[in-house]
Amino acid sequence: MPFAYDDQNIFAKILRGEIPNDTVLETDHTLAFNDITPQAPVHVLVIPKGSYVCHDHFAAEASDAELVDFARVTARIVAEKGLSPGGNGKGYRTISNAGSHGVQEVPHYHLHILGGRAMGRMLQKD
Ligand code: 5GP
Repeated sequence: MPFAYDDQNIFAKILRGEIPNDTVLETDHTLAFNDITPQAPVHVLVIPKGSYVCHDHFAAEASDAELVDFARVTARIVAEKGLSPGGNGKGYRTISNAGSHGVQEVPHYHLHILGGRAMGRMLQKD
């Protein structure tokens, strides 16, 4: 079944400029902004500007230019926040929730970048 994109989701509204965001980095294909309810000292959301519902939708259907841009934006943010283990940073975690089992709240693909503290174990049992 094809992905159904709801253009009334909150990140679509951010992309259309209908609600504000605290932008960290913007390129032709990608927007990164601070999460409104941060779960760590660094909590940035990276989203493609295209209408993709979740990670596998983006990975399967985005253009090479969109895919590369998204990955490079992510790397730039990690570097600029001083999180990269390659730059003496203490590391970070990226998370992308998808669908109901992934407990995805906003149905526009986004990658969470979390850092600035130890993240604890990856998953809880429940
Ligand atoms: P999900 O559960 O879909 O992976 O995460 C959605 C994230 O979007 C949550 O961390 C939530 O705090 C964030 N969020 C929801 N609404 C807004 C908003 O209006 N602005 C910003 N900056 N973040 C939002």
